[in-house]
Amino acid sequence: MLNERSGPEQICEIGRRLYARGMVAANDGNISIRLGAGKILTTPTGVCKGLMSPEMLVTVDAEGRVQSAGKPSTEILMHLFIYRERPEVNAVVHAHPIYATGFATAGLALESCVAAEIIATLGSIPLAPYGTPSTPELAESLRPHVHRADAILLANHGVVAMGTNLEEAYFRLERVEHYAQIVAVSRQLGGEQLLPRSEVEKLFALRGKYGQTGLNPGCATCTGECIGAACLNYDSKYEVTGEDALGAIVARVLHRVRDHCDCAHEE
Ligand SMILES: [Zn+2]
Repeated sequence: MLNERSGPEQICEIGRRLYARGMVAANDGNISIRLGAGKILTTPTGVCKGLMSPEMLVTVDAEGRVQSAGKPSTEILMHLFIYRERPEVNAVVHAHPIYATGFATAGLALESCVAAEIIATLGSIPLAPYGTPSTPELAESLRPHVHRADAILLANHGVVAMGTNLEEAYFRLERVEHYAQIVAVSRQLGGEQLLPRSEVEKLFALRGKYGQTGLNPGCATCTGECIGAACLNYDSKYEVTGEDALGAIVARVLHRVRDHCDCAHEE
């Protein structure tokens, strides 16, 4: 756990990085860390995160009651929700990085097994439904994902990332944005290619080496192309069985036949 003395400096440094990298504009974004005795240290509201000094930070208790001078982040409810649900999390970073927020605004999660580094480290990045910022609705929107992901896209809003310390939370946010840029570029080049199951399994085996604990290793939409039901995120609603399976095979064959047969033009 970060100690109270070094925490404020770390928050200011992460604020500078967020602002310098364009992951927030103006006064956007917020950062917090868990202190001892149920207290949380958070960035203040209405302040540029690139220009903070330690005395500007605000301490609140687990219910968000202010314990120091200043006004806490308007998103403190989202941070408190994460700390309540994930006892091992000691830091939360929220920002609006352009590419990742673009995906969140287009209603697109980043959950497919396509990038080796992401599968071996962060795992899939789900999309939480829209919730009005600064209200309990936003915190509640995280509920379906908070136990299976360390970084979550917030629909029509931004990204939130968490970690056992502030650097880990920030690096996760940075990874999400970098990955979102890669996916956006690969879509301009014809679309990302799903890694085959055998390759995803090898990447899972590497997770220990990367210091990953097994949370959220893969995609939520795998249908057998990658690791299917072995994935912790695997959702059986995507499974194709019985008549559906036969229908899916017939549709695929017909599609291939139509694509490759040019007899219609030979009459
Ligand atoms: Zn925001």
